[in-house]
Amino acid sequence: MKIAIFGTGYVGLVSGVCLSEIGHEVICVDVDKNKIEKLKNGIPTIHENGLKKLLSKNIKSESISFTDDASFAVKKSKVIFIAVGTPENNDGTANMVYVNKVSETIGKNINGYKVIINKSTMPVGSAKKVDKIISNQIDKRQMELDFDVVSNPEFLKEGKAIDDFMYPDRIVIGTSSLKAKKIMRDLYKPLISNDTSKLITMSNESAEMTKYAANAMLATKISFINEMSRICENIGANINDVRLGIGTDERIGFKFIYPGVGYGGSCFPKDVKALAKIAQNNNYNSLLIDAVDKINKNQKINFLNRILVKADKVKSKIVTIWGLAFKPDTDDVREAPSIYIVKGLIKKGIKVQCHDPIASSNFKNELSKKELEFITFYDKPYQALDDSSMLIMLTEWNEYKQLKLKLMSTKMKNKIVFDGRNIYDRDRLEKQKFEYYEVGV
Ligand code: NAD
Repeated sequence: MKIAIFGTGYVGLVSGVCLSEIGHEVICVDVDKNKIEKLKNGIPTIHENGLKKLLSKNIKSESISFTDDASFAVKKSKVIFIAVGTPENNDGTANMVYVNKVSETIGKNINGYKVIINKSTMPVGSAKKVDKIISNQIDKRQMELDFDVVSNPEFLKEGKAIDDFMYPDRIVIGTSSLKAKKIMRDLYKPLISNDTSKLITMSNESAEMTKYAANAMLATKISFINEMSRICENIGANINDVRLGIGTDERIGFKFIYPGVGYGGSCFPKDVKALAKIAQNNNYNSLLIDAVDKINKNQKINFLNRILVKADKVKSKIVTIWGLAFKPDTDDVREAPSIYIVKGLIKKGIKVQCHDPIASSNFKNELSKKELEFITFYDKPYQALDDSSMLIMLTEWNEYKQLKLKLMSTKMKNKIVFDGRNIYDRDRLEKQKFEYYEVGV
């Protein structure tokens, strides 16, 4: 099948590479010429496990190509994915400027029946809006052309995106068109083998809502355990024990009830807020969803405050941060707790020595020139501990999981560890005379 994909970010690029791998002919389009140049040369513009290999392979076999010529891509394709960003507006709604622009381009260039797939996360009602924008452009051209807009939200996880795309739990397809439904089935057939139960079809609105509901559910679980962690801190209980106590109940389970410094990333924060706005704009004031967002913000504030209280009591005004990415195995720092924590430390005049295996370069773009004067980035985690008063671990990369306590003792001015992900062994640290602070204890 000939496919065009607009947007070569985390979703567009992974989708493009995977769809080319399963035998489709894919043209990826982006307005960022720099990205297109790199991708044409087989250089991935994001970090994702396994991406580089699949990208090179499919460029070689000419199954995937990259262009900034949107008109060419639309004309050549039967199926067009919209996978551009839908970031947060100031009022919490989703910014649809990029989606609208792509829809206009499609309407200006469409030359026969096509299926337009809304892959980006878009507010409920967006399929109708995309349909209208395309129709208006076709009307302007005084032509009559048929097309369908399908809502097909993406559920991949950064860091495991290729596997998630290749082996999906489910594929949600929102459309009322039988013709489009059949094309969607053919498109995804290689991914589901004969397990058609994985294809869940529904209306456009329900598919759009499904994506928000999924992210809101996951964020709610995180905020739930984080709220429990705050109560534990205040009453002298230990959230790690409480987690074991509840997770073993199979009605509850362990997934997504891990206490920490709060969720980040390009999806949960913006999608939770956008869902609250969608509800509000449709005469419903969400109680739970608003609270999920507030708890998450407070989690970061509380963790920073605990660090600042301790920092006030020690002589060295240098601290170390391990982990800048919003989670392990990605270079994405959008809305990462590290941004809030580092900015808060700098505001107090504290110098920060940072390490992250791959996200430092993206992190630098989140800070002002003035803020960057307070930060030094290191290639090796233990180098970042020289003369430091405390280690603050924010992303549970594998390389941070076993602490070399003896080495740390020789490097650090004070033996203090703040663990934003509750991964270290308190007994082991305390035996070596480290002060250990974690969430919810
Ligand atoms: P991203 O910011 O990484 O990439 C977006 C890309 O779109 C950029 O490369 C940008 O240059 C390009 N673009 C903007 N306007 C364009 C245009 N007119 N034509 C062509 N390209 C254009 O975004 P992302 O993280 O891939 O997210 C894309 C969408 O998918 C969002 O709606 C997001 O909420 C959703 N989503 C993201 C994830 C994730 O893990 N990142 C998971 C599921 C869903």
